Amino acid sequence: MTGRDPALDPIADKVARNERLSRDDALALFRSNDLLTIGRLADEANRRKNGDRVSFAANQHINPTNVCVLRNTCVFCSFARMPREDGAYTRTLDEVFAEAEAARDNPTREFHIVGGLHPKLRLSYYLEMFRGLAARHPGVHIKALTAVEVAHLARIEGMSVRDVLVAMQDAGVTSLPGGGAEVFSPAARATIADKKLSGDEWLAVHREAHRLGLPSNCTMLYGHVETMADRVDHLLALRALQDETNGFLTYIPLAYHPDHNELGETLGRTGTATSGFDDLKNIAIGRLVLDNIPHVKSHWPMVTPFISQVALTFGCDDLEGTVVFERVYHEAGAGTPMWLSYDQIVQLIRGAGKQPVERDSLYRVVRTFEDWVPESSGLAPGVRSQGPEGPTFSISPRLRAQGRGGRRLPVLSAVDGAE
Ligand code: SF4
Repeated sequence: MTGRDPALDPIADKVARNERLSRDDALALFRSNDLLTIGRLADEANRRKNGDRVSFAANQHINPTNVCVLRNTCVFCSFARMPREDGAYTRTLDEVFAEAEAARDNPTREFHIVGGLHPKLRLSYYLEMFRGLAARHPGVHIKALTAVEVAHLARIEGMSVRDVLVAMQDAGVTSLPGGGAEVFSPAARATIADKKLSGDEWLAVHREAHRLGLPSNCTMLYGHVETMADRVDHLLALRALQDETNGFLTYIPLAYHPDHNELGETLGRTGTATSGFDDLKNIAIGRLVLDNIPHVKSHWPMVTPFISQVALTFGCDDLEGTVVFERVYHEAGAGTPMWLSYDQIVQLIRGAGKQPVERDSLYRVVRTFEDWVPESSGLAPGVRSQGPEGPTFSISPRLRAQGRGGRRLPVLSAVDGAE
């Protein structure tokens, strides 16, 4: 089916009535190739919630360490290293604070802090980091630690997840990022030998955060070995938790990148990426199924700024921000820029005929742009014109994708729309 798909007619009626979509509806959407109808329906659902507004945060990513105890088992990750592996790093707190100084040249309002599961870095290291960042940059929100990092710290400290979250909140963390168990499907997890948190464990960490008043984001890694039914069930699990807690701020689909990781090599996919068709379809279906999550974000470092801009008429109302330093996806082969300037993001949104809105981590409006005129240089005052640089920043992909030599992954199949 490549033309208009009549199977979508009953779904269009439901969207017009603002009615919740069923599992079968979501499967029909993923089965269909009528991308323009799917996009139009998602646009309708998005406009009802967000009008023409598209938000972004002026943010800076910080990855304190790439040493991870799951380096040998997370076969889709290109970021992690064993402690003595080439390229392994662990920042001292002073190095983290030095890297964070880039925030002074930008109108930064959010630090996005995620990293590996270091076997020896204790909770105190992170709490001191959060307190130090909060003291040095009082206007900047701290969005920190994926669910799997929180669970790892709870394990090595012998604490409950709740107590770790309370300590993080006391030290200045205001929200949690998504990620940290991007694959919920037990079958897909078995196929890719994923030893991170199960879907239920991931949901439990976020449930606890929401109960404590810590909002969070949710994600879905797609484009590896998952089936369309896996995607639907993943979305439905997120929707069910949101019904319970109302703590998710935004949903972010994460496009799998196959370079420098064992899964990409085994699938023979090195040098490829998800298709623009799938990126747009996936974000649109996310908007349609997740009727209770206020925002849907496009992550331009993964899918390119061009696809992200088009996604703004496919149900997306939020763009990844300035980023500044990005390691995780660029080590996996992302060919996108490392950063976008504040002005470039505003122009990207305006270029799609939308209204840019700068927001903070909690989606509160910081600035609108009705009277905004870019400087003749193309840069707003006080915004630096150069790309990432810093005392500790460098990207050098892994020498070896495989965690252990000579092992064979279970039978793998590429995404083909099968259920
Ligand atoms: S995906 Fe996260 S938990 Fe897995 S190896 Fe990479 S850094 Fe570690």
